[in-house]
Amino acid sequence: MIDKREFYINGAWVSPLAGRDCEVIDPSTEEACATISLGGTDDSNAAVAAAKAAFESWSQIDPETRLGYVKKIRDIYVERAEDMAQAISLEMGAPIDMARSSQMTAGTWHIDNFITAFKDFKFLRPLGDHAPNDRIAMEPIGVVGLITPWNWPMNQVTLKAIPALLAGCTMVLKPSEIAPLSSIVFAEIIDAAGVPAGVFNMVNGDGLGVGTDLSTHADVEMISFTGSARAGAAISKAAADTFKRVCLELGGKGANVIFADADDKAVTRGVRHCFNNTGQSCNAPTRMLVERSVYDQTIEKAIEVAGKTKVATAHQPGNHIGPVVSAAQYEKIQGYIQKGIDEGARLVAGGVGRPEGLNRGYFVRPTIFADVSNDMTIAREEIFGPVLSIIPFDSEEQAVAIANDTPYGLTNYVQSQDGAKRNRMARKLRSGMVEMNGQSRGAGAPFGGVKASGRAREGGVWGLEEFLEAKAISGWDSAAE
Ligand code: NAD
Repeated sequence: MIDKREFYINGAWVSPLAGRDCEVIDPSTEEACATISLGGTDDSNAAVAAAKAAFESWSQIDPETRLGYVKKIRDIYVERAEDMAQAISLEMGAPIDMARSSQMTAGTWHIDNFITAFKDFKFLRPLGDHAPNDRIAMEPIGVVGLITPWNWPMNQVTLKAIPALLAGCTMVLKPSEIAPLSSIVFAEIIDAAGVPAGVFNMVNGDGLGVGTDLSTHADVEMISFTGSARAGAAISKAAADTFKRVCLELGGKGANVIFADADDKAVTRGVRHCFNNTGQSCNAPTRMLVERSVYDQTIEKAIEVAGKTKVATAHQPGNHIGPVVSAAQYEKIQGYIQKGIDEGARLVAGGVGRPEGLNRGYFVRPTIFADVSNDMTIAREEIFGPVLSIIPFDSEEQAVAIANDTPYGLTNYVQSQDGAKRNRMARKLRSGMVEMNGQSRGAGAPFGGVKASGRAREGGVWGLEEFLEAKAISGWDSAAE
């Protein structure tokens, strides 16, 4: 049982000023695996004050020095890789092999991509030949609040903390209270890298407590948030009175458009992708849109893949999927599966209840619905579990219309061997990202969405720019530069 009730504030682990105990539940066993403290307003204020005090010097030092710290963080992150994977697996139920190969490595991937993006990054830029005495200075926005979810914990923390550090911002991280253990390891890494006191602070807490404190604090200039649309909207409102920049990465209901000429691995790939991380990914392709001429055979294939998807405890090695994160998520997903049945979708795999042989832990049966219409609840709302909806279509235009008929717009997917059709689809789909034929985004591509998926762009150059403000300067003396 881990006991970590301290916060990392001003370069030291400190006891809460106003904390209350909170248990972290291992979703594989439903038993407490750690005790943390949820901070109160005094803790939030102490962390913001430390970040504010550190801002002047951190924002002014040579950017190369900041890069040096990030490189040290990367080295120590790699040394602590196994601790990180174990923490993630325990707190949110990612099977240990997957925690090592995907969850933990997402952090290294982002740190590397930011280091690459930073190499050619210009903090002082000319406006153009027409205005030789103008400069655009890219300046750190100030103290930033980073609020993260539980589903890809280090993916999200590194997507925020690393560019904030490189940009010259100081920060307070509030990780998910459901999955705080990996962020505690992350804070230890920052500490071991010798990042100056106050630059990075971490306070555990819940949304209504520390989350709201940060969103309303007059000395916090920006909130970078990843999580649900509900919380994203609440943060935007809470932040309005202090005119913060609010960057939101929210949910998704991605369409995966399978044309009749898709490659023969497309269906298997799509089902596995939907079930990956036990369906708990904002960019999961949860609506499979299938061209009518291959509809029946696609359903058969999807059933076969669901049947081969093993479900087991996160502590066991192997390529199975683990539990969902919490009792609340388990109940919510069960409700959606029942709703799909009630609204008349055809259940072809899985269903309500736990998989056979598992009577403890938040395990969900890999579930597929066919004959889903896009106005059913299971096609409209983010389920965040291993549940796939299959929807038929008759034409390219209809596929685009169904794909775009959603409140969300994060990632859409297209499977076709016709390049011209793929290119047309890529431009017509309303989403921040389009991935086709199983090819994922390249290093440094921006991650983000449109509509209810939020409008942030994280990663690479775009991710750095989120933490900067453009200052327009005229009358600059280039001779004195
Ligand atoms: P959540 O919104 O419940 O919580 C996310 C974080 O916000 C937590 O740290 C929580 O404590 C905090 N929070 C909650 N209410 C708040 C409030 N009113 N004010 C301030 N902070 C508040 O989400 P979750 O259940 O942890 O994560 C799942 C959600 O995250 C899904 O909707 C998923 O799609 C989304 N997500 C989006 C992306 C993306 O990049 N677009 C990535 C991963 C997850």
